[in-house]
Amino acid sequence: MDKTILIELSYIVSAVLFIYGIKMLGSVDTARRGNRISALGMFIAVVATLLVQGMQYQYIVAGVIVGGTIGTVAALRIQMTSMPEFVALFNGTGGLASLLVGWANYQARMDGWSEGVPEEELISVVAIFLAVLIGGVTFTGSLIACGKLAEIPWHIESRLKKSETGLVALLLKAVRWPVKLTLDSKPVMYKGQQIVNSVLFALVLVCGAAFVYDPAGMYLPFLLSLVLALVLGVLFTIPIGGADMPVIISLLNSYSGLAACAAGFVISNTVLIVSGSLVGASGIILTKIMCKAMNRSLANVLFSGFGSTTTKTAKSVQGEAKPITAEDAYYVLEAASSVVFVPGYGMAMAQAQHAVRELGDLLQENGAEVKYAVHPVAGRMPGHMNVLLAEANVPYEQLVEMDDINPIMETVDVAIVIGANDVVNPAAREDEGSPIYGMPIINVDYAKTVFVLKRSMRAGFAGVDNPLFVAENTRMLFGDAKRSVEALVSGFKS
Ligand code: NDP
Repeated sequence: MDKTILIELSYIVSAVLFIYGIKMLGSVDTARRGNRISALGMFIAVVATLLVQGMQYQYIVAGVIVGGTIGTVAALRIQMTSMPEFVALFNGTGGLASLLVGWANYQARMDGWSEGVPEEELISVVAIFLAVLIGGVTFTGSLIACGKLAEIPWHIESRLKKSETGLVALLLKAVRWPVKLTLDSKPVMYKGQQIVNSVLFALVLVCGAAFVYDPAGMYLPFLLSLVLALVLGVLFTIPIGGADMPVIISLLNSYSGLAACAAGFVISNTVLIVSGSLVGASGIILTKIMCKAMNRSLANVLFSGFGSTTTKTAKSVQGEAKPITAEDAYYVLEAASSVVFVPGYGMAMAQAQHAVRELGDLLQENGAEVKYAVHPVAGRMPGHMNVLLAEANVPYEQLVEMDDINPIMETVDVAIVIGANDVVNPAAREDEGSPIYGMPIINVDYAKTVFVLKRSMRAGFAGVDNPLFVAENTRMLFGDAKRSVEALVSGFKS
């Protein structure tokens, strides 16, 4: 068989395996197999690509060794609790790779276009620009997202005079070293932000048009759009506040797919076009799901600076929290006939999922009906809680979605909140002045009794105080979530 036909056939097989694999990711039972099937598809695609004539294997081998070593070491060393940042970083490297493919391809073909671009190559020129633009935005945007997820301190300590506002102020802050730089979940907003972003974006489009018109003669506009793409990635992501991060993470994921798709057009690689489109499309679907989970439109997320303390005035939380010991909590649980666990980011931090499952089993043996209610944006990455609960082999039938648990919450004897905060904050339902007002939550406060397992009274990722902690029916079980759950487990065992 002709080698080209063999390669194209392999690409079709790979594409089918990708699609089948993605479909299997839709259910916890089949997700692992789906992942392996997609990986097999990628393996076939890579082998087929290596058969393409004229490959310079020395560079490929060098790339595999360097990239493979960095990836393996990073994956082995990364803590489970840092997975969300790691995933964000991976998105970013995907964008960077597409940017570099576009740039390198441009350099290699630039001279051939000095007499004008043949019509059939016009698509490559457009694709080069898109790979660089989308790849650049994805790269720096993901770096900022990663920093925000890791809560790397970066807010620039204010040393400004009152008269210094807007972008000028931001730049002044940046140049007045040494200043304390902190990057946390708070949105970074400044006067005229939308105008600055729009002007820069328009400038990129102008550079792009010039580049497409005469790619050989427009190296400077090309470089300018590359730099602007990197800057825009930062500027688009800094105004996104804590609670909105799931949306931007899914969006960046989608961008990384679109950038790969553009890179596929640049190097005329069918399987890269297909896989890039799949990532792009699934990222957009996920973005839509996340927007729905937050009850907000994409435009609102991107442009409103959700969580900005300057835009809203939330009611202050009044009242005193009522702490409870593990021993007393055990007595309440022992008498409960229905219990709902609501996990959040703190469960991931404490790695408490196995202990939670053990407690769930013991409660069931004791005659209680046990459910695990998962909020779509709990944790720090889409599906975070589902992955952890699946890892602990929590039976799939016991998982319930927010919309299914809320109508029956009033009948629940005890809701146990394991390191969740924003996703159970009643201010989102009741306080119109709250920055998270309108975000659907799991209504644990409607349960007869609520146990909240966390270490302190600190706010969640959105930085909003939580009236649940001082509610009449809430008892705070302070401490590391894993230790607290283990203490409850030993109560049942003894
Ligand atoms: P939150 O971030 O609101 O709260 C987590 C709580 O866990 C904290 O208040 C913290 O309290 C507690 N905690 C941390 N470590 C421990 C520990 N070892 N033991 C016990 N408790 C601990 O989490 P939620 O899951 O409720 O909400 C997720 C938030 O993150 C939302 O705002 C969401 O929008 C955002 N987000 C979600 C993403 C996603 O894709 N799912 C992505 C990015 C952001 P304390 O310090 O007192 O212990």
